[in-house]
Amino acid sequence: MKPEYFALVVGSGFSGSLLAWILQKQGKDTLLIDQSTHPRFAIGESSTPTADFLIRHLAERWGLRELAPLASFGPWQSHYPDLVCGKKRGFAYYSHTAGNSFTDDDLHANSLLVAASSDDARSDTHWLRSDVDHWLFRQAVNSGTTGLEGTSIRNATFDPVASKWQCTLANGDDPETPIQFRWLIDATGGSPGLRDWTGVRPNSDWMRTRTGAIFGHFRGVEDFAIQTPSYQEDLQNLFCGDDSAQHHVLEKGWLWALRFCNGVTSLGFVLPEGCWPTSLTAEERTTSWRTLVARYPSIERMLCSSEIVAPKSGLGFMRRLSRCNSSAMGKGWISLPNAYGFVDPLHSSGIAHSLSGVARIAEAFGGDERCTLNLLNAYAEDVHEELVWIDTFVALCYQGLPSFNNFVALASYYFVSAIGFEQDVALDPVHWPRGYMLAKDGSLRSQAEAMFKRVSENKSDSKELVETIQRSIAPWNRVGLLDPRQRNRLAHTVAPKRIF
Ligand SMILES: Cc1cc2nc3c(=O)[nH]c(=O)nc-3n(C[C@H](O)[C@H](O)[C@H](O)COP(=O)(O)OP(=O)(O)OC[C@H]3O[C@@H](n4cnc5c(N)ncnc54)[C@H](O)[C@@H]3O)c2cc1C
Repeated sequence: MKPEYFALVVGSGFSGSLLAWILQKQGKDTLLIDQSTHPRFAIGESSTPTADFLIRHLAERWGLRELAPLASFGPWQSHYPDLVCGKKRGFAYYSHTAGNSFTDDDLHANSLLVAASSDDARSDTHWLRSDVDHWLFRQAVNSGTTGLEGTSIRNATFDPVASKWQCTLANGDDPETPIQFRWLIDATGGSPGLRDWTGVRPNSDWMRTRTGAIFGHFRGVEDFAIQTPSYQEDLQNLFCGDDSAQHHVLEKGWLWALRFCNGVTSLGFVLPEGCWPTSLTAEERTTSWRTLVARYPSIERMLCSSEIVAPKSGLGFMRRLSRCNSSAMGKGWISLPNAYGFVDPLHSSGIAHSLSGVARIAEAFGGDERCTLNLLNAYAEDVHEELVWIDTFVALCYQGLPSFNNFVALASYYFVSAIGFEQDVALDPVHWPRGYMLAKDGSLRSQAEAMFKRVSENKSDSKELVETIQRSIAPWNRVGLLDPRQRNRLAHTVAPKRIF
């Protein structure tokens, strides 16, 4: 431990650890602290092609040779067979209604499969976060970062004249440790722990998406795709629906199922916050879980032999997931995206968003010092707009429910954004003129706004709505979204990936 650092990164999840690793690689002494200890349970595991491109970019840009294999499933498995991940060939959505087994027709009216990769080697991954975050923490420490677990800030004040923080840390029973640093980096993933020092306040009232989740890791989850009539056809033409971010779409929400290679599956029901009581005891969480599972026969079959393995304390519960802070930056401090705000797990935009923040903050600190403040200010403004945009395209999907047809059609705003951004990042991983997930594309955003207004006023499930969405997304739709000839099966949508 030194008396002075360039930065104190608070939170050693994957984003804090990765940023600390990069800063240390840039030659800046970094202290990385976490109130908890690795390996610890963390939720938020389904990665995306965008995340893969960013991982690859960060590895090349900052010389993180060990990081590069995490950019696709094949190299990950061959380099780090013990670092647990899952194979994710794309996104799968299956529609369920209470009391009925899953059925489908030749047009796949009740399912949607969107492939992201052409083969297993190039496939995306699900991250067993307890493993991945721990591994990244160790990489940061191996690079020279001082890493302290079981540690939080006891007191911190910013001296604007010296442009430095004076801080004491609380580390178990150890005596107070005074340190100084120039930058406080909030990587706490939304915990309120830094508010006393940064002065930020919650600012979430504007958010449209208001859902909560009950979740855990399970063993003994059966395959689901085999229950679907198009199992063989999908296997041959696209991918196995179990090798995906599997969304079981319900009348008001959905269940995620993310399978890891070690036989564990991450599961979580997401429903509007109004569907949940204000609080749930451990016992009530189990009862709610069982009630939800029992409502959907095909889900019940998939989970008939399942048992929870993590968290150790039982099912996790968050009544409201969406949140945002009053600011992403202040004097001497900056927040990573997930510390600033979060919307909802639908379509898995969180990991990529966090990585995009790591990339921008690393670039701001790694270049000409005279540009640092401007770059950080630009990032802080952009990250707010990005959250507003994610909130819009996610809220649109919930507006479509209970109609699966509407849900699929409205999900197109997400898909055109994700695919467009992947293409931008593949072309130039540093400059994104259209912004993260096309958040700076005013034209696309006004199309989505108009659609939000329309579906808020009239939810009817009509062919005309789908045709309107088709016209609305046409300038961005390069992959045949909503083309009836595709029958809800989209092959290989991502920009070409190099593998190691
Ligand atoms: C229910 C749910 C499901 C999700 N699913 C997905 C998904 O499938 N795909 C996806 O891309 N994203 C998903 N996300 C988002 C994803 O979880 C986040 O993007 C990701 O966790 C961000 O990681 P992080 O490293 O920034 O923060 P975290 O992983 O939250 O890490 C924060 C760390 O900070 C530490 N900490 C907190 N407060 C303090 C303090 N005061 N002092 C010291 N240490 C502190 C914590 O102990 C923790 O280790 C999901 C989120 C939720 C809530």
